[in-house]
Parts: sequence; structure tokens; C-alpha cells
Amino acid sequence: MTPNKLAVIGGGLTGLTTAIRAAQKGYNVDLYESAPTLGGRTRSFFHTPTQTWVDNGPHLLIGVYQQTLALLTEVGASSFIQWQDTLTLPLWDMRRGHFALTTSSKLPFSMALIDAVLRMPQHGLKSLPSLIRLAISMKFTQQGTVSDWMNRQRICSPLQRDMIEVLCLGAMNEPMQSADAASFCYVLNEAFSKHIHARLGWFTQPLSQALIQPLEAYCQQLGIRIHTSSRIVQLTKNTDDCTLYTRHKQQVYDHIMMATSASIRNQLLGIEQSIETQSICNVHLWFKEKLQLEHPFIGGVDTYGQWFFDVSQQHHEHTGLSHLCVVISADQSKLSKQEKIGRVLKELQAITQQPTLKPIHHQMITVKDATHVVRSHATLTMPTCIMDACEQPQSGELPATIETAVLRGEEVARKLPNINL
Ligand SMILES: Cc1cc2nc3c(=O)[nH]c(=O)nc-3n(C[C@H](O)[C@H](O)[C@H](O)COP(=O)(O)OP(=O)(O)OC[C@H]3O[C@@H](n4cnc5c(N)ncnc54)[C@H](O)[C@@H]3O)c2cc1C
Repeated sequence: MTPNKLAVIGGGLTGLTTAIRAAQKGYNVDLYESAPTLGGRTRSFFHTPTQTWVDNGPHLLIGVYQQTLALLTEVGASSFIQWQDTLTLPLWDMRRGHFALTTSSKLPFSMALIDAVLRMPQHGLKSLPSLIRLAISMKFTQQGTVSDWMNRQRICSPLQRDMIEVLCLGAMNEPMQSADAASFCYVLNEAFSKHIHARLGWFTQPLSQALIQPLEAYCQQLGIRIHTSSRIVQLTKNTDDCTLYTRHKQQVYDHIMMATSASIRNQLLGIEQSIETQSICNVHLWFKEKLQLEHPFIGGVDTYGQWFFDVSQQHHEHTGLSHLCVVISADQSKLSKQEKIGRVLKELQAITQQPTLKPIHHQMITVKDATHVVRSHATLTMPTCIMDACEQPQSGELPATIETAVLRGEEVARKLPNINL
């Protein structure tokens, strides 16, 4: 008999994917999650004042998320994603108001992108040489930060401000001055290379319903035992297996899959390595007024809030209230909570042209370790029987996203020996 008792530590998207793929290979799987509910960074909570489920933070998908899409199709949840027909990036800034990078489906994508950029206000033909230099340089490995890359290629500032900066903060959750050029280049190539991939999508239900519950139900069908409110506090390596400890019990396993954050993994395995993460701050606001943004989400240019999500529109909510969420990516300001809410509210008042707009409820959620930044680091050697699926993107790899969580979960399960009964 091949030893087949396996534990997954962490019930986020990586852990759920790992558990599903390991169970499908015939492993006998226990999944441990320290929180009372599954989901990790893709979790929702019940907001009592409005009696609705609210996401930790809104999530956008890119058409290139093929593994996520395949997994959600397998669990019967792909209908909870709404995709754009073709790539549209709705934007707003104080001087130009609403404008967009909108590609046409009638042209080949590279032509459509050039046409879309040229039609944006303050661009025109003067952005064309920069766009061509950018497109050519995307084919080569890039060194340093995104700013270094842009400066090397003499990319004009309107193109940096209206496209590169917005996409960089959105995809890498890091400003151009520190984001890894090699990874960002990979994102641009992946996201824009194939016509069908070049679009954005969003969930039409809170993440708990659209993503986590379908995955949890599938786990149960596969016989995976899910232990929520079960924090792993210690892990010891024996000769051929490992022992996991929660506060109240211990259990021996043939294989352990780590699907926590990298810092928890390092704590449990006694690894000394500094971990660099970036925060995301989400300001949820509810208004009595009927309020609808021009698009389900809008990217801000030179704004404090980077993304303005119309959650009511995305979720087709009919609560009688308008729910908006402003995302402040890589927030490094020292502003107080009230000051942050005040600033994003001012921007929303300008975007909606309703200067007297006042929310009746608000909730600010700052996820301190929202994403692991992309950096070069030494590859870790894991003790035998422990496998690592934690987020820690290397320079040149895709940054931390839903898709990379699914990819890591699938990859680590693929490396498991086949069960030989
Ligand atoms: C606000 C926000 C917005 C985001 N927006 C986007 C977006 O628009 N698009 C996109 O693609 N990605 C986005 N991301 C990134 C994406 O959510 C993450 O990359 C992905 O969810 C990571 O999944 P994971 O399973 O690897 O980690 P996690 O979701 O962090 O899961 C790790 C789990 O391990 C559990 N755990 C920790 N310690 C223990 C222990 N000792 N014992 C047992 N369990 C433990 C944790 O409770 C957690 O549930 C966003 C993230 C945040 C926070």
C-alpha cells in the first residue's frame, strides 16, 4: 500500500484546490483551517446593519485565468463570473472625468490596443512611438523595477499614468517604483497576448457563494474532511511521516501540504527568511440614494482610491441601498481611518457628480498581508513528506492572484506519488 494519509494546512483557494486534486488522486485528505470559515483572503463576512454578505475585498479576474475558470466549471460555479466582451478599462481623473481604454473586437488585438490608446484624451499620435517601443520591449526579459523599464524605453508620461501605473497597481499591488519589471512584463504578455484572454471579469455574487461554497461542497463530495477553527500550532517531522498538532489533538500524516501564508509556513517549519507583503485597504460604503457608477468598476488615475467598485451593480443587489467599495492598493499613507474615508468619499462625490453624497454605513477593512510582493529569493528545500504550495512569487513569475493560488494547488498535488493500491 502506498501511504496515503494527507493533511492540507490552510483553507484558502490554494488549500481547497490542493485538497480537491489530492483527493481525486485517491488520497485520504484532512484540511485544516484556523478561521471559523474557509476562504482565506477570498472570504466574505455577514454585515449585520445591511443584512448582506460582504467580501473582504472585491476581486477582479483576467481572461487569462484559465485554471480558475476550469476549476469553477468543474464545480459548477463558472456562471457566477461576468466577463466583458472585449477588454475595457474604464478610468476617471479629476481633469478629464470619465474616459476608457476600450478595444474593438473587429481588429486584431495589437491593432485594437493601439487604436484604444490613441483614442484616450491627451494621447493621440504622440503616444504611438512609446506604445511601439513598449510592445517590442515586452518580448524581452526585463530587469529592475517597472519604472526602470519605462525609463529605459522612454515611455511617455501620459501612457505611464493612464495605463502602466493603473495596471501595475492592479496586477502587482505595488507601485511602478518598486514592482518587479520581469513579472509585470509576464503579466502584460499573458493578459494581452491572445485575443480571447484580453478581458476582465468579476463575480456576480459574494465570494463565499460564488467561489468558496461550491468548492467546499465539491470537497465534501470527494470525502475530504474539513476542520475549520483548527489552527495548526506545531508540526514535527518523524522518520517516515509527520505529526500535526492543533491545540486539542495530534494526528500523524504521510504527507503534509502547506497552503498558508509564507510567514506562517516559516514559523511552523522554523525557517528564517524575511517575508515582504503589501496591504490592501477596502472602504465599503452604503448610500440611501440610488447610485450607479457608469461601469461596474472604475480605475482612478492620480486618485487616492485606485478602484471604485459598484458592488450593487456587480452582484445585482436589491437591498434598497447602494453599496460601493473603494480599494486603496499598496496603501502606505499614515492617514487615520476617518481621513481615508473622507478622501475616498470626496473622490466618489466627484465621480458621481453628487457633492452632498453621504454614506449611511461604512466599514473599512485593511488586509495587512494582502499580497506577497514579487522578489528574487532562494528556493526552499522542504523536509521529505512536506510539500509547499504557499504564495511567494519569484522575480519573473506571475504575481499573487486567484489564478496563481489555483495553479500552485494543482502543481503541488501533481507532484504527489500516484496511489498504488
Ligand atoms: C483585499 C484583496 C483583494 C484582492 N484582489 C484580487 C484580485 O482582484 N484578483 C486576484 O486575482 N487576486 C486578488 N487578491 C489576491 C488573492 O485573494 C490571493 O492571492 C489568494 O486568495 C491567495 O490564496 P491562498 O489560499 O494562497 O492564501 P490565503 O487565502 O491567505 O489562505 C491561507 C489560509 O491559511 C489559513 N491558516 C493560516 N495559518 C494557519 C494555521 N496555522 N493552521 C491552519 N490554517 C491556517 C488562513 O486562515 C487562510 O485561510 C486579493 C487579495 C486581497 C486580500
